[in-house]
Amino acid sequence: MTPACPACRSANTINCGPLPPFRPGVFGGEQLDAAIAPGDLVHCPRCDLRFRYPALSDEALTRLYENLPDTVWHSDEPRPYWQQARNLLDQFAASDRVLDVGCFTGDFMAWLPASWKKLGIEPSRNAAERAAASGVEMIGHSVAEFDVSRSDAGAITVFDVIEHVTQPVEFLQKLKSALASDGCLILLTGATDTWPFRLLGRHYWYSSLPEHVSFYSVAWFEWVAAQLGMKVVHASYLSSEKREFRAWLTQGVQIAAYAIVRRLREAGWPEGLIRCLPVIRCACPWTVVPWWKQAHDHLFVVLK
Ligand SMILES: [Zn+2]
Repeated sequence: MTPACPACRSANTINCGPLPPFRPGVFGGEQLDAAIAPGDLVHCPRCDLRFRYPALSDEALTRLYENLPDTVWHSDEPRPYWQQARNLLDQFAASDRVLDVGCFTGDFMAWLPASWKKLGIEPSRNAAERAAASGVEMIGHSVAEFDVSRSDAGAITVFDVIEHVTQPVEFLQKLKSALASDGCLILLTGATDTWPFRLLGRHYWYSSLPEHVSFYSVAWFEWVAAQLGMKVVHASYLSSEKREFRAWLTQGVQIAAYAIVRRLREAGWPEGLIRCLPVIRCACPWTVVPWWKQAHDHLFVVLK
């Protein structure tokens, strides 16, 4: 029996098999006391959601984020996708009142023009204090708890957050209710309809982070937009990190070798034979999946 889809509730889901093991005891780049089991990747053909099962509940995840130090996702340099996000705000926002969900230390908000009205939601206590000190009006601790009447945002930005959410429809429904009329949601997340994800499937590095529990495609956002009475008005693929060809190639070869070794083992190939394969064999001793942070595997999507 596979679990029902947490988005469309369909019972006809497909278990794609075990997800890669986590780096021992690491959560959000920080050491965790208790190890979390990685679980399996499950696909829902009806709405195209992929999700980790079993996964921690949203409440348990929020508790873990609360205690993260303010350094984990802080960035001193503008992130490579911020300019594109700004262009999307200029094109689609109904006003210059912007709510950043998971704003962390408020780096993106601080980078936007000073004249804009900046609001934030952030579970990490330390990070939220820093965001408030930099001029972001903090209106809540988590999407589940915040008071939508304090928002009235012309745009809500949600960068690298929705992959951490186990109940994405309820999450987006709440954010929609926090929008001003004609406001928009601008989301950035990993995309399962990009070629690295398609080729490497459940062996893909993005699914090896314990805090990543849901995985999306443009088809899923079109499905959810219809449920919410909204429309996908923009979708584009990108790399969320600055591209450097040599690192991109090295990391790409490493993760491909890792996935091939895993697939050959699952197909019953003898270990001795796999160890004879050129290049591929270097991945035999690896116990955790190599990261490919520069891959073209993210999606910007705007819902209006
Ligand atoms: Zn579904």
